[in-house]
Amino acid sequence: MHAERHIQPAVTEFTRYGPEGARLTIERIGVNPTAFFVSGIHGDEHEVIGPLRRQLDIKIMEDPRHFASHVRALEAHPAALQDKVRAARGVDLNRQFVFKETPDDPQAKLLADSLLEHEGIHTVFSFHEDPLERRFYLYNLMTRNDEGVMDADIEKLRTNLLSRVAAMDIPLYNGIDDIDLGYWVDHGFCAVASDAIHDNSFEMWSVQKELHRHPNMERAFLFEIPGALPVGQKEELIRVILDEFVGPYMSLKNRD
Ligand SMILES: [Zn+2]
Repeated sequence: MHAERHIQPAVTEFTRYGPEGARLTIERIGVNPTAFFVSGIHGDEHEVIGPLRRQLDIKIMEDPRHFASHVRALEAHPAALQDKVRAARGVDLNRQFVFKETPDDPQAKLLADSLLEHEGIHTVFSFHEDPLERRFYLYNLMTRNDEGVMDADIEKLRTNLLSRVAAMDIPLYNGIDDIDLGYWVDHGFCAVASDAIHDNSFEMWSVQKELHRHPNMERAFLFEIPGALPVGQKEELIRVILDEFVGPYMSLKNRD
């Protein structure tokens, strides 16, 4: 007979403030976090926040090896979330990460700092909603010096994820995402190199190491949860993303 010990990972929550009402709450789970989860960058994409927090908490218990050490900024733009609108003060947070070390916009700077001060992080997992959309897609953003070592692994994870998504009767996006940016999404997937297009997004900035010299950042994955799905189905989809993609990816990265 043996006794099982359940060790709760330490959770540290702190809120930073900046000029013009900027405010950001960060949750740090465990020690030496290697993954960064972000949501609520756009205030009209608020329905994923509760489900993402809940499913991450479940994964911490079920799969502590891959989920018990991470950083979360789940309400990245509180002023926009409060009004449930994409932008606040006329500011779209995800267009403020211009090509420089840290952004000028105070809210964007808080988010940038929260990544820069956690030097062990190698991957950003970002959750958005595409408000009127019924189809799912994801982006893979790589650093300029990515050598493609993980390409085959990521392709396998993506195939597994997208077949699970299709089995949930959620169709995959195909075609141009944002007409201004011209990203071509092929059957639910779009790979972007960090020097391809400067869209001034947090995710793109996070892999632009030539700007900020974060020592370990390698990739950002951006999941576009279909906004038109019922919230329960959004949560099921988030669960599948954590099960089929995030967990196995962290396993590959941590080489266990
Ligand atoms: Zn968004």
